[in-house]
Amino acid sequence: MEELLKALKAEAEARIKSADALNALQEARVKYLGKKGEVTALLKGLGKLSPEERPRMGALVNTVRGELEGLISDVQASLEAKVMDAKLKAEKVDITLPGRVTRKGHVHPLTAVNDQIEQFFMKMGYTVAEGPEIESDHFNFECLNLPADHPARDMQDSFYITNSVLLRTHTSPVQARTLQSQEPNSPVRMIAPGKVYRWDYDATHSPVFHQVEGLVVDKGITFADLKGTLEIFLRHMFGEETKVRFRTSFFPFTEPSAEVDISCCMCGGEGCRVCSHTGWLEILGCGMVHPRVLEMNGYDPNEVQGFAFGMGVERIAMLLYGIGDLRLFYENDMRFLKQF
Ligand SMILES: [Zn+2]
Repeated sequence: MEELLKALKAEAEARIKSADALNALQEARVKYLGKKGEVTALLKGLGKLSPEERPRMGALVNTVRGELEGLISDVQASLEAKVMDAKLKAEKVDITLPGRVTRKGHVHPLTAVNDQIEQFFMKMGYTVAEGPEIESDHFNFECLNLPADHPARDMQDSFYITNSVLLRTHTSPVQARTLQSQEPNSPVRMIAPGKVYRWDYDATHSPVFHQVEGLVVDKGITFADLKGTLEIFLRHMFGEETKVRFRTSFFPFTEPSAEVDISCCMCGGEGCRVCSHTGWLEILGCGMVHPRVLEMNGYDPNEVQGFAFGMGVERIAMLLYGIGDLRLFYENDMRFLKQF
């Protein structure tokens, strides 16, 4: 029986060690150590031995059974580790792949330029005022020295809603509204940014566009204040080396009035296609507030004086970014917008 046990042990060990999968190992366990297993059968057969031999053989068989159980759990552990390895390999996430990018938006170039203008004037102590885009004829024209028969009204063909209500053609009505909301003759220093509407559509005109209007009213305000303010502003926007020139002009709400040019920011004044080879670019309109406008809005022109200016945000953005067609701002083409 001892010989048989030895042979059985060798056979079982070989079989257990060669098990290459958990189910093969389980089969080996059943074959040798199960209820009807071959080692179990040896234990059951102990009864046939003589009482002298029985304890020694019993101990031997139990030792072999213990050794085989130990071997089985070792092999089981290594097989389970292999299965886990394979699973980990199969389910591995490749973290080197690029992730899904969350695209961040950014401000529109017109908003960026508008913010830049607002920031500048706020630092200079200006307040930012807003007014309605649907405006009465009274505020859009009358209060700004543009009576019904004034020829200057032809310059701005408008979108009328009724005979006396229209989409505002400029941000200037905010000036009239601001003056009328103040104590008469009290100082004003404000800008009014916003959308305005005119009956135009081509590469440099859009039916909707953006203006920033400025107004300063106080005792002793002169044209020198206007000139200094706009020169500092334009150099801030277009660079310190920018030259600024004032040309006489006409606006119904200012007297005297001026158009302001800057030296061409594309060619530095040499002359190019953008500046029509003049070296200058027209950038904004301005002037001393017309005494009639002060009067109509409750101020006394003998007590206070003021200056006003107005500019197109699109025009400034086009020059700053070198954009040739104003319509690009409104088409929302990602290829265009991504460049800013
Ligand atoms: Zn030029």
